[in-house]
Amino acid sequence: MRKKLFFSFTAIVVIVAVTLAGIKIDRVHKARQCGILLAFDDYGAENWENCFDLFDKYNVKVTFFINAEEPTDFCYKAIERGHEIAYHTKNHVRLTEVSQEEVYQQAIAPIEVFREHGIELTTFAYPYGAYNEQLNEQLLQHYNVLRGAYAYQLAGKHEMRHGFVESLSIDNINYESEEMFRKQIDTVLDDLDNSVGGVAGLYSHAISEGAWCVSQERLEYIFQKAQEKGIQFYTYRELQEN
Ligand SMILES: [Zn+2]
Repeated sequence: MRKKLFFSFTAIVVIVAVTLAGIKIDRVHKARQCGILLAFDDYGAENWENCFDLFDKYNVKVTFFINAEEPTDFCYKAIERGHEIAYHTKNHVRLTEVSQEEVYQQAIAPIEVFREHGIELTTFAYPYGAYNEQLNEQLLQHYNVLRGAYAYQLAGKHEMRHGFVESLSIDNINYESEEMFRKQIDTVLDDLDNSVGGVAGLYSHAISEGAWCVSQERLEYIFQKAQEKGIQFYTYRELQEN
């Protein structure tokens, strides 16, 4: 009897040890996993919704930085599919050129409106990428992460928890040729691949052939290459919660 008890005790110890080791390996793996923060700005509900299946095909989660006074049906659908709804002001105003009251109405007051409708806004992108230190200070009292729009920045995941981060535009207009686009994407993916737990933000608007859009073909190039390299896609929120 005593022997039996001893064996079951040993078995439990072994099981617990293996489980804890498993959790630790999983944690280390997660911390080292690099990723892309893909975002779409402004408001293109129908266009974006049409791409939900494409995102699912590659297991891609994205962040939509929207201009809206209150949540729309699109917001709930996007959240249900695992994407993030983030904010981009009510009317796409350049915050560096408006009054304090307007900053409040455009970027801060809507947080409560969305909250009342069940959506927590924790990430904000500056329209036209226009920001200054004073705005950062003010908005960081209400949002966790503020996103710019003018540069490629390779960051650590911890930098995505609080503060200002840059993001690279993948709008068609910035790349004269397919070759130029692919070269830029390859650089970003190689940098991520060589990093330990690095993340980089990419953004566009609608998914189409227009100048301030990204073509589906280009988007799929990113998805396929990222998949080959085992690079993950995160929403900004996901990294704030980790
Ligand atoms: Zn915008």
